[in-house]
Amino acid sequence: MKKITIIGTGYVGLVSGAGISDFGNSVICADIIEEKIKILKNGQVPIYEPGLKELVKKNVGFGRLSFTSNVEAAIQEAEVIFIAVGTPESDDGTADISAVESVARTIGKNINGYKIICTKSTVPVGTGKLITKIINGTKDSKYEFDYVSNPEFLREGSAVKDFLWPDRVIIGASNDKAFKIMKEVYSPLYINEKPILYTSVITAEMIKYAANSFLALKISYINEVANLCDSLGADIHQVAKAMGQDGRISPKFLHPGPGFGGSCFPKDTKAFAALSKGQGLTMKTIEAAIETNEMQKNMMVKKMKKLIGGNFYGKQIAILGLAFKPNTDDIRDSASIVIIDSIIKEGGEVRAYDPIANQSMENIFPDLNYFMSWEEASKGADGVAIMTEWNEFRGISLSLLKSLLKSPIILDTRNIFSIENLEKNKFKYDNVGRSSIQ
Ligand code: NAD
Repeated sequence: MKKITIIGTGYVGLVSGAGISDFGNSVICADIIEEKIKILKNGQVPIYEPGLKELVKKNVGFGRLSFTSNVEAAIQEAEVIFIAVGTPESDDGTADISAVESVARTIGKNINGYKIICTKSTVPVGTGKLITKIINGTKDSKYEFDYVSNPEFLREGSAVKDFLWPDRVIIGASNDKAFKIMKEVYSPLYINEKPILYTSVITAEMIKYAANSFLALKISYINEVANLCDSLGADIHQVAKAMGQDGRISPKFLHPGPGFGGSCFPKDTKAFAALSKGQGLTMKTIEAAIETNEMQKNMMVKKMKKLIGGNFYGKQIAILGLAFKPNTDDIRDSASIVIIDSIIKEGGEVRAYDPIANQSMENIFPDLNYFMSWEEASKGADGVAIMTEWNEFRGISLSLLKSLLKSPIILDTRNIFSIENLEKNKFKYDNVGRSSIQ
């Protein structure tokens, strides 16, 4: 059992903290936001993530997991310190690692014995060197440390499952001692023969960006194929299914939609492209994936506009789904933001509903009309756009929806309704890659 401190208690930090304590380690989750820590100490969880509340409760109950806003004391307590703070996009597309740098300085000032300093945040290749330099430059003690890169691959919406049963764990360490300690942290996974990859720090940093950018590329690719299917009358679902049955391709990340969002793909692709540019190399594939994604989000706006007669002015549009994907309250870079923004700018009105993410969206659009059900949001609307494939939307009765709307118009950006059912209910509809406007 190791004594662990996780700095940054967001989606990654909290899930990792709960998961690592579930592996039997003693974990302190630290964050500078007092309010977050207060919520956690009161037995609540500040984010929505299936299974997280239960995992936190279980490990707090066993006395293995605790929370603090005293980051300095938490650093002193730990043998292994994970950095899991945010690395948002800067104005120039590069990753803003100022929070990581700030944590490195705090670690340097408070190091009180040999420790492993491990970064879980997604950071540009070479950040490990920088963190090591910052800590060495800040500490005035004799204590040594080893630096490790341990990128995280969990997906919001299934983060707990992904963390407890990962495909693999990447440990970029500069020596065997550090790797061995990290392997002990993850010992239940090692015992269960999950692959634990030992790489250099720089290679681990590269793996994270290369993997995320490839997935983003796959999504942009299938979206472009879907758009061509739209034009030519082919069915993207059959195309994607057949592609996925080819073992070389795999069916994952071949779902057409309104463009990727969330806290990772948009910023990680941009950071990867910027990183490459900094080396005098152009990553044309990734730049194209980014551009395609922006076009895809705008294409959803065009499709909706066309469906309702060319202009949003004076129209009420129900937006069903605000989160960038189901089972999360995260709305960062969600495609819904782009369509909402366009409707408002053109003088239309948005009637918004998400089973979980209304509150998150209120931070961006405080003045929208938010509703507590899809039925209320749809009542009297001129049309509806499905932006997130929540399960409860899959079960929508199209005849009931039609009776609530002013006109039976639907943009199904997630292709959750069958064409047959839409036709049967005489909807004017559009989707992504299955048919054009009737
Ligand atoms: P987040 O914004 O949800 O959480 C970051 C937390 O760090 C916040 O609670 C913030 O208060 C805290 N913080 C910031 N500065 C701090 C400081 N100096 N000391 C202590 N706490 C501080 O971010 P996230 O989504 O958890 O992402 C964290 C990192 O993990 C990012 O680099 C991200 O790219 C990466 N990542 C995210 C996901 C994901 O699905 N969200 C998946 C894999 C990797």
